[in-house]
Amino acid sequence: MKKTIKDLDLKGKKVIIRCDFNVPIKNGRITDDNRIKESLRTIKYAIRHSAKIILISHLGRVKTLEDKDKYSLKPVALRLSELLNRKVIFVDDYKGKKVENAIDKMKNRSVVLLENTRFADLDGNKESGNDKALGKYWASLGDIFINEAFGTAHRSHASNVGIASNLPSAIGFLMEKEIKFLSLKIKRPYTVVLGGAKVSDKIGVINALAAKADYVLIGGAMAFTFLKASGFNVGGSLVQTDEIDYCYDVLNKYEDKIVLPIDVVTAKEIKSGVKTNLRFVNEIEEDEIGLDIGRGTIKVFKQYLDDSKTIFWNGPVGYFELSEFSLGTKMLLDIVSKTSATTIIGGGDTGSAAINMGYQDKITHISTGGGASLKYLEGKELPGIDVIDEK
Ligand code: ADP
Ligand code: MG
Repeated sequence: MKKTIKDLDLKGKKVIIRCDFNVPIKNGRITDDNRIKESLRTIKYAIRHSAKIILISHLGRVKTLEDKDKYSLKPVALRLSELLNRKVIFVDDYKGKKVENAIDKMKNRSVVLLENTRFADLDGNKESGNDKALGKYWASLGDIFINEAFGTAHRSHASNVGIASNLPSAIGFLMEKEIKFLSLKIKRPYTVVLGGAKVSDKIGVINALAAKADYVLIGGAMAFTFLKASGFNVGGSLVQTDEIDYCYDVLNKYEDKIVLPIDVVTAKEIKSGVKTNLRFVNEIEEDEIGLDIGRGTIKVFKQYLDDSKTIFWNGPVGYFELSEFSLGTKMLLDIVSKTSATTIIGGGDTGSAAINMGYQDKITHISTGGGASLKYLEGKELPGIDVIDEK
């Protein structure tokens, strides 16, 4: 068993909490603050126990100097301060004098948020590459490390594994909840629904999940690489060309388990108000993009879902941000929420869809991690959890 925040004496200590504040931000506004809300319990606990709270997180992928404007955590500090009803001091750097001065001035119960840890990636990929010196430096800023970032627990970065290797450590309440639900005993039939756009990230786990699950229903952009591997012409749909052979092998190996769409909603462009068509998968035209599963597919998927005792779903089955292509995701949410199965949804976008469409209370657990929950269910150790001290 991993230590939790409750196992440590926080009073007067500088407690570094690695949160997952990787939230969608459009024009400086946070469009989904669920991950911030999910971290409140741990932050409030640390405040109640008179700690000095130093919050850190990554946001997005930082590759160029321009990304620094797009991915500043400043909007998160503002939102967090509203949610906590107290001042959150934002430091616009992730290391150096400004950071150290702000921390020196902290009193018990004050809350500081440092700038995006991935700004360190502009300096030789130090965050994502788990640079030893950077992990050590961040650790030197505090007395205790709490990992609350489930969404990045499958990655070995300086801001999780690096710091934890240099300080007494524990998990927070959100991490504890994630582990509890993702470790529930699986009752069969066990159905996995996979969708979304991060095909290259997710495609590798299909093999492992297919081995464990009774059925794997595939929608979203990912379906098109599989359809292509099955010999269909998928027009301008998103296809991961270098994974076609892999998908072909997976399909052969698990032909009784993998269920692909039989029809899809297509359009010539991805934009609001565009004309849409319902096509059988053998009818997709060269200049069309597949953007949602069709009604026939929803019916087929329903039969599997209704029969399931455990359902895990990662990745929206369509381009749900546009109402033209959101029906598949909405209908599946409806079906899943009405089954008697234990239902777990993982992934930032899938979670957002579930919450925005009003299904939050009808799902057993909405995980804050996409890749992390997939890896966990695959049975893999997550480095960000593994590194935490045992009780
Ligand atoms: P999650 O965040 O839940 O892990 P992903 O980030 O992998 O999911 O994918 C979510 C994205 O996938 C959404 O922005 C959605 O619009 C997109 N998407 C789903 N289906 C398609 C499709 N057929 N074509 C293009 N994009 C799609
Ligand atoms: Mg996503």
